[in-house]
Formats: sequence, structure tokens, C-alpha cells
Amino acid sequence: MVRSVRDHNGDFVYFGVGRFKDKNASVSQHTDNDFQEAIMEYQSLNYLKSTGVLDAATTEMMRRPRCGLKDKHNTVQNKSVESFVLHKSRWEKKHLTYGITKYSKWLHWSVVDREIAKAFSLWSEHIDLTFTQHRNEPVDIDIRFEKYIHHDENPFDGPGQVLAHAFIPKHGGDIHFDDTEHWTVNSTNGTNLLQVATHEVGHSLGLLDTRDQSDAMYFAYLGYDPNFQLSRDDIFGIQRLYGKKNRYRSWHDGENNIGMASNTITSRPSVAQESELCTSKNIDAIFQTDDDSTIVFLRNKYYKLLQNEVAPGYPKDISDGWPGLPGNIDAAFTYENGKTYFFQGNKYWRYRGRQIDGDYPREISDGFPGIPNNLNAAMLWWNSNSTVYFFKDRKFWLYDPNTTPPVKPSYPKPISNIEGLPDQIDAALHHPNGNMYFFRGDKYYRVDGKSSTVDHSGQPYPRRTASWWFGCKNLTRDSTHLTNYEHF
Ligand SMILES: [Zn+2]
Ligand SMILES: [Zn+2]
Repeated sequence: MVRSVRDHNGDFVYFGVGRFKDKNASVSQHTDNDFQEAIMEYQSLNYLKSTGVLDAATTEMMRRPRCGLKDKHNTVQNKSVESFVLHKSRWEKKHLTYGITKYSKWLHWSVVDREIAKAFSLWSEHIDLTFTQHRNEPVDIDIRFEKYIHHDENPFDGPGQVLAHAFIPKHGGDIHFDDTEHWTVNSTNGTNLLQVATHEVGHSLGLLDTRDQSDAMYFAYLGYDPNFQLSRDDIFGIQRLYGKKNRYRSWHDGENNIGMASNTITSRPSVAQESELCTSKNIDAIFQTDDDSTIVFLRNKYYKLLQNEVAPGYPKDISDGWPGLPGNIDAAFTYENGKTYFFQGNKYWRYRGRQIDGDYPREISDGFPGIPNNLNAAMLWWNSNSTVYFFKDRKFWLYDPNTTPPVKPSYPKPISNIEGLPDQIDAALHHPNGNMYFFRGDKYYRVDGKSSTVDHSGQPYPRRTASWWFGCKNLTRDSTHLTNYEHF
């Protein structure tokens, strides 16, 4: 039934939102039953008489400002228990952080902080999650006030209509407010920030839009409500996802949910990829993407690695893979929220997949206070998806955005504290198999997380990166290693 109100991306569009302006064009292109069906569907969803005619009541409903939840599968569903739960997309940990990285022009930042905190607390009153605001990156939920095109695939539409949108947890949980709206507090003028923020936080936690006007998750904004609160069904919905407050203690804490890949020996690659990687004296950076590809950066090229070899078709230009990103990257890692950070000199860039995620580059000293410029390597620590290790020269820094300050005074520490590592490294990777890999020159070391020491099993480390990782064959030395590949 909703087929005819999906756009070409498969995204649900409230018929009229975004398209309403060129309604006539739509009509002329869709004189078939689809159009009428779409209108009828829209009307029935909104408790209007289902006539299929675009009458005054229907256009009035379409004009109402609303939320633009960003999810391919968002539909306004029938009111039932399941209607509140979107694909069971939820956060798998209890203590979440958020940051407001771009404020509104309409309200003082301290007011925005307060209202956003209220919005989170309306939900956390009923579930065992905590939300803490952080001023430093990285955070779980990034909140910003944006206008028009703003680095995701969903530009805002200017005043009216779409007021805000949010990503469900599996898409990162971020929240964007359209700052061409006049955001207000305790006023019948403009658009009430608390009400819209509460609704968007609901999405950010995994809830759907509803069609009951008493819900905070109702898909349209109905004007300022001085007695605004969550409805019984909002609470029921959020508790379906996270359990009731104080009653879910045994719930999987999810802080250490790294998939431990089996440690099997893989078959030998059939085709060797002879590339610059095979002869290079070192690599610039190595990291996992949010879809679990392992990527190596060397100068202005990148290489995707399969198990023990370079994937066919590589290298490619970094500027093609991550538009806006320069070559000669110093360090890179993907954070637990799926965002990838790149560092070069005194700057860093943040990407959501292959798309830049805001106004970057920014200064490392702004986003990562306490971390030096001109890094050598960065990676997540083995038992924490939120703690980042940075390496430069002979030292390393532990960066934990959940503490203040994020870098403890006891850092930096010498890399030689990690037994068996050289005193300097070029690149580092926390592999999903649970091991950490440190690259220096044309060799690498494998470190077992639990013991924090270089692995002593099998062939000794350091091993030759070209043969164990890149599948290079025409090596003049180390030819005996050709039958050996790093175990993933
Ligand atoms: Zn919504
Ligand atoms: Zn957005």
C-alpha cells in the first residue's frame, strides 16, 4: 500500500513533503491509479476521509511541519506494539554520549544544551540508559543545527515542512535540526525545541513515527504544548527496546561486542597483486571501514585488502574513495558509531561511510584535545570500542572521550611499554579478530590484546607485511614466507 508513496530511493515520503511544491508536475506524471492510491493511503494514515482527492483538508495536513526521519524503511504504521519498534535497531550499550557540534542561531547555546538534556531525560526516566553530553569528539550521537544541504543525503527544505531528522541507531543515531526554523523555548511563537528534540531523540534510540497525536513520536508537529510529555505508548515503545528502568540489570552491556572471528588459516591467494605496496618501505595508515573492509593508505592511493591479498582493481585514488580527503594521511580509525576519522598534520576529517560528515577538516587540538599533531598511527584499543590510542614518535596517548579530560595526565607513555614492539610505528589496526597489528617499515607485529604483548606463536614477529598481508609474490627475500599468511 505504501509502494506508491515511496520515492526513487525507496525512502518513504509523506506525499507532499518535498514534492508538494511541484504538485502539478507530480499530478501530470501520475495520472494513473498510483497517485490516487497514494492520496488515499495518505488520507487514511492521517484520519482523513479516504477519497483519493487532493482536497483542502488533505493539503492542509500535508503542509503541517513534521519530522523527516531518515531511514529507508520508515513507514507510519498501524498503532500496535510493534509499530514502535523499528527493525529492533537499538543501542547495544547503556551509557551513551552526545555532542552538540553546531548550535542554533536562534537560541543561546546554554539554552540549547538545557533543552536537549531535557529531551534525553524524558526518555531516560523510563529506561536504563544514560546520556552524557561531551564537548569533545568522538560521541555516539552527534547533534547539529543545519540548513539546506548539509553533508548527508537529505538536504533541509528551508522554513516549514521538514523541521528535523534523525538516524536510527544502526545508521549512527545523529540528529539534525533545520536551523531555518525559528527555534523557541516556552513560547507559542516559532517551533518548540524540546518537543521536536524529544521526538528526534526517540528516533535516535530506534523508535518509529506514529500516527497518534498524543504521542511524542507523532510524525507531525502540532504546535507548542506547555504540558508536553511522553505518552503511555511512547514509554511502552521505548521499554520494548530497552526494558524498564532498573529492571534489566542482566541486559548485555555491549561494551565489548567485538566479533571474534575464527582463527582459521585461509587458503593461499591464487592471484598475486603486484603493486606499489609490494615494494613500499612502509604504509601510511590501515583501518577497518564501517562495513568491515580493511583499507591501506599509501600516499594518494588506497588498497582494499581481502584475506591476505589486495583486492582486484586496486589501488584507487583516495580522493575518489573519500571525496574531499587528501593523500598522505597520517592515521585513521573507525569509531564504534561507524564513523571514520582521518588525521593529517594538524587536521582531521570525519566521514560517514564515504561521505564527509560535516565541515571538515577541523583542528586536531579542537576535536581531540590533548592529542598531538603529525600523528603516526591511531586505533581502537582491543577491549574497548570507545577508547582510541594515538601514536606519535616513541610515545602513545590513550584518548577516552567519556572522561574529563579525555587524556589523563599520565600520558603520553613510551611505546616500549608494550613488550616486543619497536619504539616507533607507522600504522596500527585493531582487527575484528581481536588482535592488534602494528606496522613499522615493511614489517608488522601482532599483539594479543589480553596480554598486551607481541604474539610468540608460530613464525616470529616482526613479519614481512608484503607477503603476509598483501599477497606479494615477487619478493627477492623472504620467499619462504609465501606459503604463510597472517591468520584472520
Ligand atoms: Zn519522526
Ligand atoms: Zn541531516
